[in-house]
Amino acid sequence: MLELLERLVRAPTVLGHEEDGQAIFEQAMTGSGLGVREVRMDPEAIRTDPHGAPFGWEVGGKRNLIGTWPGAGDGEAVQAARSLILGGHIDVVPPAADDLWTTGPFEPRTEGDWLYGRGAGDMKAGLVAILGAVRALRELGAEPLAPVHLVSVVEEECTGNGALACVLDGLEADGCVLTEPHYDHITTAQVGVLWFDVEVAGRAAHAGHAELGANAIDGLSTVIASLRELEQEMNQSPPPPYDGFEHPIHLNVGMVEGGDWPSTVAARAHARCRIGLYPGQQPDQIRRRVEQAVVRAGRRDPFLAENPATVSYEGFACEGFALPDDEPIAVAMAEAAEVTLGFRPPLVPTTATTDARHLVRTGTPAVCFGPQAEFVHGIDERVSISSIEGSARALAELIGRWTGLRFGTSGPGYDHAEVTHSATDRGMEH
Ligand SMILES: [Zn+2]
Repeated sequence: MLELLERLVRAPTVLGHEEDGQAIFEQAMTGSGLGVREVRMDPEAIRTDPHGAPFGWEVGGKRNLIGTWPGAGDGEAVQAARSLILGGHIDVVPPAADDLWTTGPFEPRTEGDWLYGRGAGDMKAGLVAILGAVRALRELGAEPLAPVHLVSVVEEECTGNGALACVLDGLEADGCVLTEPHYDHITTAQVGVLWFDVEVAGRAAHAGHAELGANAIDGLSTVIASLRELEQEMNQSPPPPYDGFEHPIHLNVGMVEGGDWPSTVAARAHARCRIGLYPGQQPDQIRRRVEQAVVRAGRRDPFLAENPATVSYEGFACEGFALPDDEPIAVAMAEAAEVTLGFRPPLVPTTATTDARHLVRTGTPAVCFGPQAEFVHGIDERVSISSIEGSARALAELIGRWTGLRFGTSGPGYDHAEVTHSATDRGMEH
């Protein structure tokens, strides 16, 4: 698992460069005996789907991968067996600031129990763990009674359109675990996310006569102040399951650019932003509120009032969701973790989004649980090596509990077919 993880981290799979990582993971799945199917991104199908997120870049040719371990045998146990998706994303966010990393973001480095690298935690370790679980069970001579699909998608960090392509292609199961990087809890609810761009116009002039101009960068900060008020409003009385949170909705101004000269009043400024939304809210509702906040900024600045900032959309535009705490896949994952790891991860809502939403809304209950990571999207991102092994053990146990296992094909010491619902009972404890 470590060797595969290091190879994956060395592939800088930022937006537009996902294939380097997909090729490695495809080979690893094929080499583990899984039949791999690719789901190519179809730009037209995504653009016309109401759940597609807008994008302005090239997606044609990008591949999502589904490696399937088919369900074995027949009989009553097989009829009752439940199919499972274990999945994650190959894409990573950019390094934030290369020079602040102790070593290069795409040069994996191990120190004690930690493996460092962009995407090591979020979430190449998760991909490695799902394959590790399947490999271990296969080495024991086990076969699942219902299909187990291992999925690696693109564009989880910007649109979710990779996962959308997979569900449009018919990907579904009785339950799903995405091995996003958290070991101490299982997420059963998540916010929606909207990305939006704000473009502010100014009037260029010599800085020595700034009174003749209007600075677009100042205008942008006025607009941001107005958006912060919207953020505050949205956090005032969070609905369940976020009612225990102090500040579940975050507005993030993630990128800005503007102006072109220190002595010129800036003619243009641009910001790229992200805001969360509660389960039940539609991206369109939040678009209207963002646009109203931008218009309100004009009350503080006459130039902005006459030259309103414009808002456009590219990237995430998705809803949140909340599964009940007794959702079978959530309970099964918690029990599998308890049996293998000795602690029961609590079920919690997250203030981020994941691809789980596409699965949930198309009828596959999905939760997140995986290796423990720190500083994801930050500097010196790292993942705990022992938690990768722990996750793989918990996931192998989950496969046993969820699909049931048949032993007796080629495993050491198993010379007759036998069905069990615990991988741990059959030698997975080490
Ligand atoms: Zn992630």
